[in-house]
Amino acid sequence: MDLKNKIAIVTGASRGIGLVIAQTLAKRGANVVCASTKQETCDAVAKQLRDTYGIDAIGIQVDVSDFESAQHLVKKTVEHFGTVHICVNNAGITRDNLLLRMKPDEWHSVIDTNLSSIFNVTKAVVRPMLKNRGGRIINISSVVGIIGNAGQANYAAAKAGMLGFTKSIAKEFGGKGITCNAVAPGFIDTDMVESLPEEYIENIIKDVPLKRLGKSEEIANLIAFLASDLSSYITGEVIAVDGGIQL
Ligand code: NAD
Repeated sequence: MDLKNKIAIVTGASRGIGLVIAQTLAKRGANVVCASTKQETCDAVAKQLRDTYGIDAIGIQVDVSDFESAQHLVKKTVEHFGTVHICVNNAGITRDNLLLRMKPDEWHSVIDTNLSSIFNVTKAVVRPMLKNRGGRIINISSVVGIIGNAGQANYAAAKAGMLGFTKSIAKEFGGKGITCNAVAPGFIDTDMVESLPEEYIENIIKDVPLKRLGKSEEIANLIAFLASDLSSYITGEVIAVDGGIQL
């Protein structure tokens, strides 16, 4: 899983799964663009990657739900690194509520940040990838997009939408050497899950055959594989990393 000299954009790289993905790609030699909502945090993560792994890394502030902001992210990346080989669309949010209580704002913000975002970023990133006649686009969906979840109709709809988008992009750009895959994590031990009530988490764990939450590293290892040359004949796939929760 050698990623030496590859240029990777990771959205939502400031913490949680995105941070560990950025570290994992850097560890394998990739130069990384750490993209997230606050410039200061992006810069701090980029510095940590440069200092620890001896690669080049920069921080770029982005709001992935905003089309222009996403175009700016890729423009800045190409200005600094010359191109992009790998794009990990990881940024995401939850605004959980039962449908009867869900406000239009909770619906729209989740759809915009989790689903419209991958349109925004992917549309920009395929241009340099087309020039390279190759690239790796990896979308972080969720097991919730496959099996649904009460209280997360907005999130489940966005994460399911990502799967249709992923398969369509795989078909549209396969002939140009660009692969597009989705990873569907189960419940992973990050701030996003820690914000849920303890009892709720305990109940989830009961349904997981591996009887624990996942770790961000367990997602990042798959991302490193999908980003590498080893995954060259895999595209349009949805790969679950969920401790078997769908069994
Ligand atoms: P997190 O809340 O810890 O981190 C989310 C990251 O996205 C942060 O860096 C945040 O700044 C960034 N972000 C949010 N809105 C943004 C925006 N508009 N523009 C740019 N960046 C933005 O979440 P996490 O648990 O690390 O989740 C990462 C991804 O994995 C998300 O897409 C999430 O839906 C998905 N996921 C998480 C779990 C889980 O159990 N934690 C399970 C399945 C899928």
